[in-house]
Amino acid sequence: MSTQIHPQQGVAGVARLIGADREFLWHSWSPSGTAGRAGMVVTGGRGCEVTTADGRTFLDARAGMFNATLGYGRTDVVDAMHAQALQLPTYTLTQAATVPAIELARRIAGLTGEPDLSRTFFCHSGSEANETAVKVARQFHALNGDAGRRTILTLADGYHGSTLATAAMSQIPAARDGSEPLPAGFVHAASPRCAQCAARRPHRTCEVPGPEAIEQALLAAGPETVAAIVLEPVLGVAGVWPLPAGYLRRVRELCDEYGVLLVLDEVMTGIGRTGAWFGYQHHVITPDIVTLCKGLGAAYATISSVTVRQSVFEAFAADPLLGGLRHGFTTGGHAVACAGALAVLDAVEREDLVAGAARTGALLLERLSKLRELPEVHDVRGVGLLLAVEFTTLEQAARVEEAMAVDGVLARLQGAAVTLAPPLVLTSEQAGRIADCLERAALAAGGDR
Ligand code: PLP
Repeated sequence: MSTQIHPQQGVAGVARLIGADREFLWHSWSPSGTAGRAGMVVTGGRGCEVTTADGRTFLDARAGMFNATLGYGRTDVVDAMHAQALQLPTYTLTQAATVPAIELARRIAGLTGEPDLSRTFFCHSGSEANETAVKVARQFHALNGDAGRRTILTLADGYHGSTLATAAMSQIPAARDGSEPLPAGFVHAASPRCAQCAARRPHRTCEVPGPEAIEQALLAAGPETVAAIVLEPVLGVAGVWPLPAGYLRRVRELCDEYGVLLVLDEVMTGIGRTGAWFGYQHHVITPDIVTLCKGLGAAYATISSVTVRQSVFEAFAADPLLGGLRHGFTTGGHAVACAGALAVLDAVEREDLVAGAARTGALLLERLSKLRELPEVHDVRGVGLLLAVEFTTLEQAARVEEAMAVDGVLARLQGAAVTLAPPLVLTSEQAGRIADCLERAALAAGGDR
């Protein structure tokens, strides 16, 4: 016999729901992420707000997991997915094509700003997209007669996913610990962030490792053995650290000099989050491969993408053995997900949300920057609608994030940083509400000083 649990069952029903959550559902990155914390069972959403089974409403300043860029309750996206599901749920892209997959690949090619960066492979998650990029880079070099190029170089504080290979691309302990042995062939360079700054001053004035750290790691590995350098334009999970000006330009030069592919992981930053379609567009460089996920599906569609230069693709097209890529997923590029992503891109264009993210993000950053005057605020940083307020201790940051939730605003705790990545449809009034709430919480966190 099964028990049907429905949120509209009153206090007893909600308690049963929370009980069943605690008993049966295994949360990602648990136990810290469980719904058990204040019984957070989300049952609905409208605009930038979500509601819970016990009737609370929150302004979602973290857009779920930084992915609900259009907010909630978007009938335009849902209608497009519904129509596609009735027309054709999907068909394997191994033996055929579907109209939404063709259209979405074409649209992404148009957004990269680079005519040559235009061939797209679809997967489901950010981890899959980055793992695909690793395999593409290695297979590319092998097909070019350079099979010695196996090594993947990343930043120590980068985060690229939770599969085995993408876990090996990070040195963040939470991404790796307990899963060893991780695959060989991954090396790391020191990140352009201040890891442990004891001084009471903004990190902007700290000395941080520059692109020479990448060059050193490249030379140490042996440049002729390196297949690709994989970077996030903003170190997101590490606490929102935008790469410094000039950094990516220098890495691009190194890649060109040593014949290494440059892969940009835009899983978090892509599709408007930073106030540009792609984060790399702030740096005026072009990668060889770029991955997307969160903003592409915008929490409606489970989809990610890997877009490569035509010159990379051509090595596969010329492959005499299998005639192409040795890689694929049964439902990668699912037609319903592609239809959803196309509707997302339509909405981002129609509502001018990329420029909107730049505008509202600048407003929010300006408001938050005033918090630097508080002794417990160590740094305020970010780009577009991807922002962080870093506190001097982890405990202060945890108290602030908790107090904000009690006050009706959901932020994310990443180390000692409270990070914000609200939907791109955020209004300036809502941005003000987030800043007010964070300020109140920060002042309260310092109440015992
Ligand atoms: N890459 C970056 C930059 C991310 O921020 C994330 C997730 O937060 C991933 C990859 C992994 O994506 P997913 O959780 O969809 O596998």
